[in-house]
Amino acid sequence: MLEWLIIGGGIHGTYLSYVLTHVAGVPMSRLRVLDPHATPLALWEQFTTNVGMEFLRSPVVHNLDPDPQALVKFAHTAAGLPHARFTEPYRRPALDLFRAHAQYLIEHQRLKELRVQGRARGLQPYADGFRVETADGDLTARRVLLALGVTEQPYWPVWAQTLRATGAPITHIFDTACRRSEVPIGQQTVVIGGGISAAQTALALAHHAPGQVTLVMRHPLRVHQFDSDPGWLGPKYLRGYQRESDYTQRRACIQSARHRGSVPPDVEQALGAAIGSGMLRLRMAEVRSATRNAARGITLCSADGSEPIEAHLVVLATGFAATRPGGAWLDAAIAELGLPCAACGYPLVDEALAWYPGLYVSGALAELELGPAARNIAGARMAAERIGKIARL
Ligand SMILES: Cc1cc2nc3c(=O)[nH]c(=O)nc-3n(C[C@H](O)[C@H](O)[C@H](O)COP(=O)(O)OP(=O)(O)OC[C@H]3O[C@@H](n4cnc5c(N)ncnc54)[C@H](O)[C@@H]3O)c2cc1C
Repeated sequence: MLEWLIIGGGIHGTYLSYVLTHVAGVPMSRLRVLDPHATPLALWEQFTTNVGMEFLRSPVVHNLDPDPQALVKFAHTAAGLPHARFTEPYRRPALDLFRAHAQYLIEHQRLKELRVQGRARGLQPYADGFRVETADGDLTARRVLLALGVTEQPYWPVWAQTLRATGAPITHIFDTACRRSEVPIGQQTVVIGGGISAAQTALALAHHAPGQVTLVMRHPLRVHQFDSDPGWLGPKYLRGYQRESDYTQRRACIQSARHRGSVPPDVEQALGAAIGSGMLRLRMAEVRSATRNAARGITLCSADGSEPIEAHLVVLATGFAATRPGGAWLDAAIAELGLPCAACGYPLVDEALAWYPGLYVSGALAELELGPAARNIAGARMAAERIGKIARL
């Protein structure tokens, strides 16, 4: 029986596997990370490539080493130097640098050896721990950490689901099958979405097909440096949040604190320049329905009845669905173990992020405890601080 099984080997699962084995002292042989992908951080790699981002939105201290300065130090090494680019404000690292550092850590800390390729599809109590079911057999562990993330649930508006069912040319930039490099950009490519990923995707596509891409947003640009105020990373806001015992209030707090559908100032400037030069078109409209047209393209109609938008291809960049990640197998475990959930469906966990004795959460599943930054890299660091203490006991 393992000591720890981490389900999900993306940003959160990989970072937690590092902290538990190298900081909290869990022997490498007693911990495994279960993830369907052949390599760590697979979805992070795919989606950051898809949107074409050049720099992270988060500062350099939010990296995958427990030492916040590790990425700065790495930038001075032979391996880091070729990628050593930062942007201001807040010294945000280039995506290439963050990636090279993550790969360096995975290799040097031997984190790949911890991985088991597969997907959890059941979780039951077993002896003094749990049994996790996969297609290739069961894994047993005294403690299980759920680090699933929301990244397997791209948000498809109802009109887009209907359109997809007709076989129309529509994709989602966060669909695991979508590769931006393979997207057939043509005369009228329409990107739907109002946040940083939509803006970056539209810019990346327009770069390859100037004048042929339209970004459709349902609200004017919301400009915020970060996706939530940095005060949420420490006691400034978290103290009051954690004193709130009404979880409906906590959810409301997360919703108002998270700057959903926002862009940082540098992306605002890049958009302005691309629109000004005619490289990219911008249209303010909330799409309500879509139909195939005679030319085998798509006609998008907006809520305000303004002129329809014609497209030969629609690319959604509408983020992720708000529903609790995990799906049917986690629903079954919740019922079997009687795991407590708030009205929004998300876990009610204690300060150590335990949902049940021996069952821990990180990322989106921990947000009712860790607040609006729980899903981010900083959230993985916050989760590791708490879960690492348990592992040391
Ligand atoms: C384009 C983009 C840019 C971002 N930029 C930043 C940024 O600059 N700074 C920042 O702090 N945050 C950023 N984020 C937000 C966040 O840090 C990332 O989404 C991050 O990948 C979340 O980590 P995660 O571990 O929760 O999800 P992931 O990294 O996607 O990992 C989750 C893993 O769990 C696996 N999984 C799911 N179900 C199962 C199962 N049943 N069994 C086994 N494995 C399973 C998935 O396949 C996946 O591999 C960005 C997000 C996106 C999409």
